[in-house]
Amino acid sequence: MNEKLVPWAPAQMTFSDYMSQPLPADAIRFEGPQSFYGLTMMDLEKFIAHHGKEKYRTQQLYKWVYEKKVTDFEQMSNLSKDFRAELKSLFTFELPKVLTHLKSVDGTQKFLFDMGDRQTVEAVLIPSDDRMTLCISSEVGCNMACRFCFTGKQKLKRRLKTEEIVGQFLQAQALLPEGWRITNIVFMGMGEPLDNPEAVFKSIEILCNDWGVNFSRRKITVSTSGIVPEMWRIAASKTRLAVSLNGYDDESRTRVMPINRRWDITELLNECRQYTRLTKDLVTFEYVLLKGISDQIEHARALHKLTRDVPCKINIIPFNEHPGADFQRPSDDTIEAFHAELMRLGVHVLLRRTMGRDIFAACGQLTSAYKEHPGQMDISNSNLGGKHVADSRRGELGLR
Ligand code: SF4
Repeated sequence: MNEKLVPWAPAQMTFSDYMSQPLPADAIRFEGPQSFYGLTMMDLEKFIAHHGKEKYRTQQLYKWVYEKKVTDFEQMSNLSKDFRAELKSLFTFELPKVLTHLKSVDGTQKFLFDMGDRQTVEAVLIPSDDRMTLCISSEVGCNMACRFCFTGKQKLKRRLKTEEIVGQFLQAQALLPEGWRITNIVFMGMGEPLDNPEAVFKSIEILCNDWGVNFSRRKITVSTSGIVPEMWRIAASKTRLAVSLNGYDDESRTRVMPINRRWDITELLNECRQYTRLTKDLVTFEYVLLKGISDQIEHARALHKLTRDVPCKINIIPFNEHPGADFQRPSDDTIEAFHAELMRLGVHVLLRRTMGRDIFAACGQLTSAYKEHPGQMDISNSNLGGKHVADSRRGELGLR
């Protein structure tokens, strides 16, 4: 029996066709040097074949680099001397440099990474009882211009490369004390992941490879403001979908998220339903509570009505203020009443505890324009995780 074509895909293909397609690869350069951290297993296989070597060498290399954390080819004892010399000229192992490393009073840590061309992004580590979550960036700045978001005030400067996304994870993991590990990754840092899909989904392939970091796909969440034609990729990568909803109807959403003019709520929710059908998973809707704008009881009821036929949970995020913000955070009583109303209506809802506000690492507060904020603790010269993270380029970049 013929499988049905999927209407949400850019070509006339079935879902099985999509699942069997390799994810789009960046142009693979066969001449070096290039970053090892930007190559999926499939890229590396092609690379190795191009150099006349056996396929199993790919697994050996991945194992050395990601499992044994060896980046000196001379130490890769199961490779021939000639091949080791050749590899040296082909690959680099540069990682984003940590310019600052801050720790909040609640344990949240924030990293400012230098991407090497005077562009910086932030990533945030959020500890909780049962998980250590890394919130990762996909772009320097963002063109989506969501009005409640500090990053959105900074136009897109550039999209990150695959190795720069993988590098945020590797650096953050390396800076954790011995025996600690990152358990979850969320693409909720700077940038819209679906505006940089090739690098984002390649980085997921690299992080989830059995021979490499072996991170679980089910522990990765990709959050989108709603680039509907690209959302199929989240189901295809078997990761979790989060959607920045932030409105209870088209009018309220368009007021804070201009992308709603391009893809409205009907299109967005249809795509979410498609995701839940294909993955049997819930969608997470993020809903920022803005004082006097989206925090009233009738808004909670409208939100329930809007989402009740989508298998979902809703994360309520009280607005985190930032310099020049157009909005205010509602009072604790208003936040609690909104939450209670959704609970009364039977919604699967979570009131997100605000983490990292004192170091400006809370949701919607990330920017690459670094500013000092009161109460933060700079641990860039501390020995957290056994590594010193001070960097001489701080002065060069004007970050003192
Ligand atoms: S919320 Fe996300 S998509 Fe919207 S401006 Fe901020 S970084 Fe971009």
